[in-house]
Parts: sequence; structure tokens; C-alpha cells
Amino acid sequence: MANPSPHLLLVATGGTIAGRASSAQDNLGYRAAELSAQDLVAAVPALASVPLRCLQLAQLDSKDMSHAVWQGLVRCLAAELARPDVSGVVITHGTDTLEETAFFLQRVLAPEKPVVLTAAMRPATSLQADGPQNLLDAVCVAQAAGARGVLVAFGGQVHAGDELRKVDAYRLQAFDSEPAGPLALVEEGRVLALRPWPQATGLGAALCERPLADWPRVGWITSHAGFDAALVDAAVAAGFDGLVLAGTGNGSLHADLEAAAVRALQAGLQLRLSTRCGSGRVVGPGGLVVPVSATHSPAQARVALLLDLLAQPARPQA
Ligand code: ASP
Repeated sequence: MANPSPHLLLVATGGTIAGRASSAQDNLGYRAAELSAQDLVAAVPALASVPLRCLQLAQLDSKDMSHAVWQGLVRCLAAELARPDVSGVVITHGTDTLEETAFFLQRVLAPEKPVVLTAAMRPATSLQADGPQNLLDAVCVAQAAGARGVLVAFGGQVHAGDELRKVDAYRLQAFDSEPAGPLALVEEGRVLALRPWPQATGLGAALCERPLADWPRVGWITSHAGFDAALVDAAVAAGFDGLVLAGTGNGSLHADLEAAAVRALQAGLQLRLSTRCGSGRVVGPGGLVVPVSATHSPAQARVALLLDLLAQPARPQA
């Protein structure tokens, strides 16, 4: 049999990039996740000459992203990246949980080939549609010499998957990465590297093979004025395995939350401290009851704790 020819795989999962509104002026009242992977490719004439295979893995608004889709993505990527004819993968996704999926995939797979996620802040029908250019940029990154790891191509920038943070709810330049900023820029189809591509080792796809019903239950609670500790006690009673506590400022917790955190630790939950600030991370430990997460955002901290717990034997339920 002839060797299969090298190509990129496009994995579509939905999002605003695949969204449609009834008017080109409407950037808000649209339905996410309607266009297929093939529709997205057809909207970018320059992709006609790129060897690209399409796979529709999911079709959802990423606010509803689930561990089931992540498990499916890991299985799909592990199998596809092992194929010698697949030179890289592009994933279309919603922006809302893009930072969580990108962090998860990089920590689990840290692939040697490029896996480039992209998205859009405007639906495909918008006068300002940013999806087609972002998709083209993602393909350019996936084809760039030396590119590797889970990357995010968005708004002309390339971010490391485990450093991404959504920083704007509406504007087109919605992402940033911490602490060092973008890895590269994409300008007129050229990828300009600013920093080395990620070199990490992944935890391994086998970690995600635990049946979904047995995945650790990890939530995220934010400290705030007038905090009601019943929220934490309810999570303990409901059988959660872990909680991320997003503190005010440098991880400071309302006294009632701190007392509830001690009760949660005594009940066997694992806790991690993050910050509700829009940038930066908790600089610790400084005598805190709760271990400080090494990550920057609470979203990353929740995924990191989920993976820590997945790597441990399941906690027997009372
Ligand atoms: N709610 C959409 C999603 O995350 C937002 C977007 O893609 O921009 O799927």
C-alpha cells in the first residue's frame, strides 16, 4: 500500500466560530455551534490548497464543555498524533472555556507535533467575523517549522496552551497569556517566533481512561465580601473531592471561608489557592492554610487539581 500523504487534521467542536446570527450586525444574538468543520474550511479560500482532513468531534457552545468531550478529545488526539501521515492538528473551539481545554490538553499530552486551538469572538455571519482569519492563522502555525505542543492561535498571536487566559468578554483581542506573553505572532501567513515552543512532558493519555463517573469532582469557589460558608460545607456534604479557592488579592480568604476550608481539609478534600484578580498568581505560601496553586488563574488551578486527583486512586465515598 502507498504511504498515506502527510496532512493536517481539523477537529471541530463548535463555538462562536461555527455560530450564525440572523443579521450581519448582530454579534450577540447568535446560535453557537451550527457550521460544520467543512463549512469553516470552505469559508477560507486559501485553505483549498492545504491537505486537510476534517473531523467533527463535537458541536457545542464551549460554556457547556464537559469532561466527556475532553476524554473524547484526548483519545482522538492520541490516536491521530501517532499516525505518521498526520503532521499536526487544528482544533476549533468556543472562546469561553478555551483556556481550560488548552491547559488540559497540554498537561495531558504535551505533544511533539503541533496541536493548535483557535476560536472566534464573532459569529461567522458577522461583519466583523474573526473566525476565518484565526483558522487560517492556526493552519499556518500548525505548518510552521518546529512548532510543537498545544498552542492557541488567536487575533494574530500564538499563546502556549497552558498559559492562556481569556481577558475580555466582548472585544476581539480577548486573550492574553501569563506570565511571559505570546509565544509568536502570525503576520500575513508568516509565523514570527518570540519564544521557544513548549518542551514539556505530558502526564499521558492513559490518565483520562478512568470511567467518567469516577472522575474527581472539583469545584471553584470565590472569596468575596459577605461570604457564606454554607457553600463550602455543601460541597463537602455533596462529596466533592477538591476545591479551588479564588482569594481576594494575594490569595486572602474571608475568615468564614478560611474556617470552612479547614473543615473541608479535615473531611479529606484537596484544596488549592488561587486569586480572583484578573492577572498574576498567588505568591506564597506565607502561612496560608490552603496550598497555593502553581498556576495563574482559578480556571487553570481547577484543571491542575483535577489532573492531580486523577493521578491518585479514587477516594472512597462515605
Ligand atoms: N459561548 C461561545 C463558546 O464559548 C463563545 C465563543 O466561542 O466566543 O462557545
